[in-house]
Amino acid sequence: MVLEGSRQPLRALDVPRPSIGPDQVLLEVRACAVCRTDLHIFDGELQQPKLPLIPGHEIIGIIAERGTRVERFQLGQRVGVPWLGWSCGVCAFCRAGQENLCEQARFTGYTLDGGYAEFVAADQRFCFGIPHDYSDAEAAPLLCAGLIGYRSLRKTGEARKVGIYGFGAAAHIITQVARFEGREIYAFTRTGDVAGQEFAMSLGAVWAGAADSLPPVKLDGAIIFAPAGDLVPHALKAVRKGGIVVCGGIHMSDIPSFPYDLLWEERSVCSVANLTRQDGNEFFALAPQVPVKTSVETFPLSQANEALHRLRTGKVRGAAVLLTR
Ligand SMILES: [Zn+2]
Ligand SMILES: [Zn+2]
Repeated sequence: MVLEGSRQPLRALDVPRPSIGPDQVLLEVRACAVCRTDLHIFDGELQQPKLPLIPGHEIIGIIAERGTRVERFQLGQRVGVPWLGWSCGVCAFCRAGQENLCEQARFTGYTLDGGYAEFVAADQRFCFGIPHDYSDAEAAPLLCAGLIGYRSLRKTGEARKVGIYGFGAAAHIITQVARFEGREIYAFTRTGDVAGQEFAMSLGAVWAGAADSLPPVKLDGAIIFAPAGDLVPHALKAVRKGGIVVCGGIHMSDIPSFPYDLLWEERSVCSVANLTRQDGNEFFALAPQVPVKTSVETFPLSQANEALHRLRTGKVRGAAVLLTR
């Protein structure tokens, strides 16, 4: 499925099978999860996509061909492709272990073609082996919702009482990890989204309520996955002195001005950008121990537009996943 320009529906096109370089593998795509970032690209809020573009950065595929330098993976092996598709390895950020901030980074399904397709080429150095415990559809959301969720949770440090604003794919995964680590999750959803609140409680949240309400206790930290800047002051209001508010999304509407009192007493606000391979290695080792279970709603690849629409309107419980067969 190909995006030819902002706000145009994805079109089904016969795209030639990509050719691969020495460090790349050709994957026969099995599953690709649908992420809110895909909507931001679709809507033109992320402004530098390659066009035409095959979106999709939570890919599970089988290796059908290997470049001449590929040694990590075998033909027929199942691997996952995340958002970070390539980094330069030499810039100051890469050398400091912050390849997520690489000046030259390339991103799957944004500046590189992604997984809304039957085949995708990927640099093997940025792929992950996938634990056997997961089916293709269950594994796909781990590649972004899981990894970005994990990086966001790590940013909260030792926070024991953690608020999560926006209870979608990332939240449903990271709630399970947080519980496993002995943390308490306080879930915030759209006002009146009773089903979303029940979903959060079913995954072990200790409290669930509307995003503009206050939890019964002060939080040590909060993660905002919803792309709504007005949640930042709400979250700051909910965290204790010294607490942190982590913005986990790649795009957010403007943050309204707020009184300095909300930030005072060493509260902080930060964002999470992209992921590192280290995040992935840690998360894929941890997920089967929890064990993280993903709730997915599957669609055939040809219904990518419908999947995006359901995500946009908040109808998906857990993650939407496209299947190629
Ligand atoms: Zn994503
Ligand atoms: Zn770099």
